[in-house]
Amino acid sequence: MAHSKQDRLEAIKMQIINDDITPELAAHATQLVFGDGDPDSRVVFIGEAPGKNEDLQGKPFVGAAGKFLNEMLEMIGLTRSDVYITNIVKYRPLNNRDPYPEEKKAFLPYLESQLEVIEPEIVVTLGRHSLNCFLPDLQISQVHGKPKRFKGRIYLPLFHPAAALYNSRLRQTLIDDFAIIPTLLQKIA
Ligand code: URA
Repeated sequence: MAHSKQDRLEAIKMQIINDDITPELAAHATQLVFGDGDPDSRVVFIGEAPGKNEDLQGKPFVGAAGKFLNEMLEMIGLTRSDVYITNIVKYRPLNNRDPYPEEKKAFLPYLESQLEVIEPEIVVTLGRHSLNCFLPDLQISQVHGKPKRFKGRIYLPLFHPAAALYNSRLRQTLIDDFAIIPTLLQKIA
């Protein structure tokens, strides 16, 4: 019998635990933060790593950056349950430090499997860590808001909502870039 997308995602989640990925991060984390939303979504958002609130609640983007992300989704007529949201690194790095390159590398195959299950039409990368996981040679300051086609997938690089929270210029840039999503979805429909 064919397994549902939800079952296949659950299997990837269990695999991360069974494969004992980044045991140092896992040891300090409350739980694995795997992903949230609609596995049939046409758009997947990928952040960096869970923070304190995400670690406690087991869901990505539920703190201040998440609130801003929800607001931007609303601005384009979507809610969280319409899209799928995840991170590269799925355990919280202590003190919210940036994830190490080896931690991002360790999680990448699982993130790829997640995307293979969901098959989104657009992968929205949030921040430079997420962008550079897929497109290592690009600079977020130069390519933000510009869709990039690579290996049969469309990426939309955006600034990270946390970076834009207290910087009004960046905040407006992110809001403007976000507005490209519905246009892009319409174009590729
Ligand atoms: N920042 C991220 O990159 N991911 C989260 O889940 C929360 C904040």
